[in-house]
Amino acid sequence: MRLSASGRSAAAAVIAATALLTTSAISTAATASPGTTAPPRAAAPDIPVANVKAHLSQFQSIASANGGNRAHGSAGYKASLDYIKGKLDAAGFTTRVQQFTTSGRVGYNLIADWPGGDANQVLMAGAHLDSVSRGAGINDNASGSAAVLETALAVSREQYKPAKHLRFAWWGAEELGLIGSSNYVRGLPAAERTKIKGYLNFDMVGSPNPGYFVYDDNPTIEKTFKDYYAGLNVSTEPDREGDGRSDHAPFKNAGVPVGGVFAGASTAKSSAQAQKWGGTAGQAFDRCYHSSCDTTANINNTALDRNSDAVAYAVWGLSS
Ligand SMILES: [Zn+2]
Repeated sequence: MRLSASGRSAAAAVIAATALLTTSAISTAATASPGTTAPPRAAAPDIPVANVKAHLSQFQSIASANGGNRAHGSAGYKASLDYIKGKLDAAGFTTRVQQFTTSGRVGYNLIADWPGGDANQVLMAGAHLDSVSRGAGINDNASGSAAVLETALAVSREQYKPAKHLRFAWWGAEELGLIGSSNYVRGLPAAERTKIKGYLNFDMVGSPNPGYFVYDDNPTIEKTFKDYYAGLNVSTEPDREGDGRSDHAPFKNAGVPVGGVFAGASTAKSSAQAQKWGGTAGQAFDRCYHSSCDTTANINNTALDRNSDAVAYAVWGLSS
């Protein structure tokens, strides 16, 4: 999650108004006519939180071995990208590294396509992979990166055959202003952009004093996540703190329906929120936001577990 800046709210309001025009772009495709039975939808698998945590440990080790961070332009960033790419290549994904330069340093996005599905109906899920230079960036955003990675690996384990084409992405230089994702969206020909029927973003999903926030940008995607949490009897709130501050923004700006979940950053948890979610009222959702203490100790396992399963639930539900 990039740092908040004043003056961004007016732009966000314009973007929000634009998004109202795009709400029907994702719809449940199964419209069974009378007398026919819709094919059964594959249930999303449970994402093993131990696997997600193992990825977090790897990202922590990578940071520790590279000056303590995984920031844009650093060896730690590239090592993080190589780690994910190696897993995905071995799992049968078609991967591509997209290079760009910003702030005088080379950055990279990793794009991974799962072969198959309707090439004209693409569902994307992504997370930013860079940390700030002050720390290892384990909640922000190794957590989202690992949840998306483990979901992609589950797609391979299950040999899932979705109706839509699945594409996963890990973005560079988010912390410098959504640079990698903006580059990706800007570089898409219009015909390719309109094939993307949804982009799901995961930025900070294991906050230590967690909240359960759902992006309210697109009603269909929002309902998918809310249905998932309703099944757990966990109440949610619309995301306000993260609005426009992560990699979904360039997609939304380009007319792509977006959604995601978020466990909170530097905003303090209210008493009402502590009552329904547990945790500590008056304390930030993530006290280590953009700090050196954003390590593997800075993760709430329950939030990480639930949100990792939410990634898979939405990827399966919106692609079948
Ligand atoms: Zn951040």
